[in-house]
Amino acid sequence: MISVEEALERILALVPVLEPVDVPLLDALGQAAAEDVVSPLDIPPHDNTAMDGYAVRAADTAGASEATPVTLRVVGELAAGYVSDRPVEPGTAVRIMTGAPMPPGADAVVPFEETDEPAGHSFGAFAKSRDVVAILKAAQPGANIRRVAEDVRRGQPIIPKGTVLHPAQVGVIASLGMATVRVHRRPVVAILSTGDEVVEPGQPLRPGQIYDSNAWSISAMVLENGGIPRRLGIAKDTVDALTAKLREGLDADMLVTSAGVSRGDYDVVKDVLAKEGEVDFWTVRMRPGKPLAFGSFVTGGRRVPHIGLPGNPVSSMVSFELFGRPAIYKMLGRADWQRPRVRAIADEPIENSDGRRVYARVILSRHDDGRWHAALTGPQGSGILTSMAFANAFAVVPEDVPLIRPGDEVDCMLLA
Ligand code: AMP
Ligand code: MG
Repeated sequence: MISVEEALERILALVPVLEPVDVPLLDALGQAAAEDVVSPLDIPPHDNTAMDGYAVRAADTAGASEATPVTLRVVGELAAGYVSDRPVEPGTAVRIMTGAPMPPGADAVVPFEETDEPAGHSFGAFAKSRDVVAILKAAQPGANIRRVAEDVRRGQPIIPKGTVLHPAQVGVIASLGMATVRVHRRPVVAILSTGDEVVEPGQPLRPGQIYDSNAWSISAMVLENGGIPRRLGIAKDTVDALTAKLREGLDADMLVTSAGVSRGDYDVVKDVLAKEGEVDFWTVRMRPGKPLAFGSFVTGGRRVPHIGLPGNPVSSMVSFELFGRPAIYKMLGRADWQRPRVRAIADEPIENSDGRRVYARVILSRHDDGRWHAALTGPQGSGILTSMAFANAFAVVPEDVPLIRPGDEVDCMLLA
């Protein structure tokens, strides 16, 4: 038996970080920057006004008040998007709109509220009708000016390599003028179900058969975690069928199979996996999901990592959560695969009869006592997929804890 950590360590050691590619900004959402994003420009690119008002020389406004206004001559108007080379000479002012670059000579902006200009004037209307403005309050030098490069300086690394690109990061990169960003290519994950009893959804079900759920839950997890699922369908438990299907998956970045890896299994799956690749069959100290196959297939000089999940639908999902998801993250250059954890009060007993690490499916909610509480999602059999469907967390019971009693604290791993 190996621990969950050891299994993960061995898997990550064989999974490569994929090569960097430049992609349009939105395609990078949820991916990690493959290199530092360095700003090619200053933001703001120039000193500009933070308010609508008048660009003035602060010294001209000294002593101004409602009782003793200072009158300045209005020599022009400046809207955002336009630049003026004409200096603001002593005794003059330029009417200016938020975002417009400061004209030379001016070192402060007096907002309309501190002048005799009534609020609500549209651009152009006032300056055309009057050519003077009364300043009602003295301005300090620098007042209401957004300084060049106060947000971002040219040459500054803004987004460090490995940062996950959420909407704010996407916006920052756009603000740098970049239409593409370098990330690691999304992994194509080939997914194969095995078993004579397994049938595609949408087909009629004959006695003894069950529908394939693993290919769908695993494909969805691949997609949700930034990979590209490629479903290979279902292989019957024959050497030829399995071999053919496996080979179809060898141009992917990772191959995931389900079923046929537990001790009691019909040997054909294990045989074919072992014959076609270098695959180890592990027993991992966890529940659900004890059996796990891991190895790689070498084809045309490429090594394709392979994870062989157990067949039981819950085991399959929990194993993919613990081993497949980190593998996808590694390929994407992401190091943040750890789920957030909280301590919660167990509302029900959780048993751990045989010294494995238990991942119990729970509903985590905050109660009136201000604490998080974990309630089991019902029967915890590894075939009961609805126990996953209602869960928003795993309560994680350590290997050496035989029982969590109601009222005990338990560590919970957030799934959503
Ligand atoms: P195995 O690992 O082959 O012993 O399968 C364990 C259990 O998982 C059996 O009850 C299988 O019928 C079931 N199973 C195997 N593959 C799938 C699948 N793709 N979808 C749903 N259940 C499956
Ligand atoms: Mg089977």
